[in-house]
Order: sequence, then C-alpha cells, then structure tokens
Amino acid sequence: MSNTELETLPISRAEFQRQEIFKNVAFESLAGYLLGCKTVYPAPGSLLIDPSQPQRRLYVLLEGLMEVQVESQGGTYKSDIHPGHCAGEMSIFENLKPSAKVYAKENCKVLIIEAETALAMLNASHDLCLNFLQIMSHRIRNSNRVVCEEEYHIRCIEENAKVDALTGLHNRRWLEEMYTRELKRSNAGDLHLSAFMVDIDHFKSINDNYGHLVGDQVLIAVAKGILQCLRPTDMPVRYGGEEFTIFLPGTNVENAKIVGERLRAFIEAMKIPLHKGKDTLSVTISVGFTERKKEDTVETIIKRADDALYHAKQSGRNRVCLNLGDGSMFLF
Ligand code: GH3
Ligand code: MG
Ligand code: MG
Repeated sequence: MSNTELETLPISRAEFQRQEIFKNVAFESLAGYLLGCKTVYPAPGSLLIDPSQPQRRLYVLLEGLMEVQVESQGGTYKSDIHPGHCAGEMSIFENLKPSAKVYAKENCKVLIIEAETALAMLNASHDLCLNFLQIMSHRIRNSNRVVCEEEYHIRCIEENAKVDALTGLHNRRWLEEMYTRELKRSNAGDLHLSAFMVDIDHFKSINDNYGHLVGDQVLIAVAKGILQCLRPTDMPVRYGGEEFTIFLPGTNVENAKIVGERLRAFIEAMKIPLHKGKDTLSVTISVGFTERKKEDTVETIIKRADDALYHAKQSGRNRVCLNLGDGSMFLF
C-alpha cells in the first residue's frame, strides 16, 4: 500500500499502535482491511450498542470515553471504556443480542470494524488472535467476579433477613428452616434433642418503669446471657418480643434440666447496667422444656415447651419446668 493510500485509512499508524487489540500487530498487515472500515464521532449520550438491537461490529475507542452498562438482578453494573480499548468483540463470533449497553460518555472517535472484516483480519494475523483471546479472557474473568460478588451480596442479604437486628440472635425465619432440618436429623438418627421456651418475667413493667430503650438493653443483655450458657452447637432464637426458643441437639432430659437451671440462675444473677450510670437492673426468666418424641413436628415440640413455660409462670415465675408430654409437668 502506498503512502497516499495509507493516509486515507480511517486510523493512523500512531492510533493503530495505541490500541490494545492491535498490540504487536504490523500496521501494514491489516491496512487493506482497514481501508473498508470507518470512524464515527458519537456525541455524549449516544448509544453505540443497544441490547435490544442485534449487532455484529467491533468498536475501537480511539478518543473520548465510553461506558458499559450491564443490567443484572443486583442492579446496573457500570464500567468505563478508555481509549485503546474496544467493545462488541463477542458479537464478531455470535449472532445474539448484546448483553450490555454501550454509551458515549464524552465526545468520542470510534473505529467501527464490521464482523466479516474483523474475522478476515483474525485470519490474517496471529497476533490479533492472541490479543482477542486476551481481551476475551479478561472479560470472562471480570464477569465471573461480578457474578460472584453479586451472589455474595445476595447471600448476605438473605442471612441478614434471618437475624434479629436487636439481639443478633437468629429469628423465626431461621428457626423454620434450621429447626425443621435439625428435627429431621434427630428423628432419622434417633438422637436426643431438647427444646426450650424462655420468657422474661414481668418484662412489661421494665418498659413501663424505665422506658422502651432500657427494655431493649435488657433484651440484648438476656440474649447475651443465654448465649453464655450454651454450647456453640445449641440453637437459640429470638422467638418474638421477650421470648426465646432454644434447640439443644444431642441433649437428653437430664442434661437439659441442668442447662435450664443454669440459664435461670445465670440471668437472675446478672446485673444489667442502666443507661451509662452505676445503677443496675436485674430480671428473671421462666423456662419450659421438653424432649423430642418420634412423631414431633417443630410446632408440636415447641408447643410442649411453651406449655411447660406457662406452667412455670403459673407456679410463680423464675422457675424451670419440664413437660414430659404425657400430661406430667415437673417443676425445678
Ligand atoms: P410475664 O411475666 O407473664 O411474661 O409478663 P410480661 O410482662 O413479661 O409479658 P407481657 O406479654 O405482658 O409483656 C411483654 C412486653 O414485651 C410487652 C411488649 O411491649 C414488650 N416488648 C416486645 N418486644 C419488645 C422489644 O423489642 N423491645 C422492648 N423494649 N419491649 C418489647
Ligand atoms: Mg414475659
Ligand atoms: Mg411473653
């Protein structure tokens, strides 16, 4: 190609050498193909690639700034395209609608290479193929990273939805899933499993006398106290208001009784600081518990523990009560 012909190309030698996609590629080897390409000058806001429009072109950004926007479940993921980089490279190989929007963010100068020309160029240059593969693998890694981050984000939201914001304990939503699973596991292996229902005594009067904020502090302190009395495998839940349930996997009635009494005594002995002053507050809890039976569902085992709790309340509060399920209640 003569010098005068080279001057008529839509891209100069200097511009060509600055492009990631043409790295190590001899300008002359592709000059013939470039002759049939064109440059466009999109203004800010112009849409170059539209997901609703099938397109088979490679856009090489010579000047300006473009933006890619990918819509996904987690929102819109945006990233900039700087001069030297390109867009639309996947469309060369497939006849699908684009997966992203590409806008001009500033006044741009863009080289457009139609798919057939790009494929012919790839046939002609081994180095161009390598550059293409590098760009593609970078894109795949990038989109994998975005997908992983999004999944992690969604998992965090799901996990947070299962945690009680005040006490940090799990909530009813978690209970439904995990207690069902634990009960199934215990039933299948005929393993011991005890269930507790715990309720703060006269909690309403704490709210009435000290205010709701102090009430909240008491709930936080009691939740902490409960955790301190349990093993990591035990499953405490804020059931609602000032009530807590606990599943104790692998725990028989005798050991559950020890845990119940430990809980009751620990909470009774706690000195909960009032505001930031030196004054403290003490509360008591009533505890009802039971052991798994063969035919139990989460509802029936919790109901038995709740009946025991009711009995503990009726018997003066600050008590631990076992419900054997055959009509007999044992107070400790
Ligand atoms: P009992 O000994 O029979 O259990 O009496 P109680 O006063 O503890 O029980 P009651 O059910 O009459 O009152 C529970 C109170 O707990 C009423 C409700 O306003 C309060 N409560 C529920 N959730 C919260 C909360 O998140 N924060 C605060 N501060 N209070 C709460
Ligand atoms: Mg109560
Ligand atoms: Mg209650």
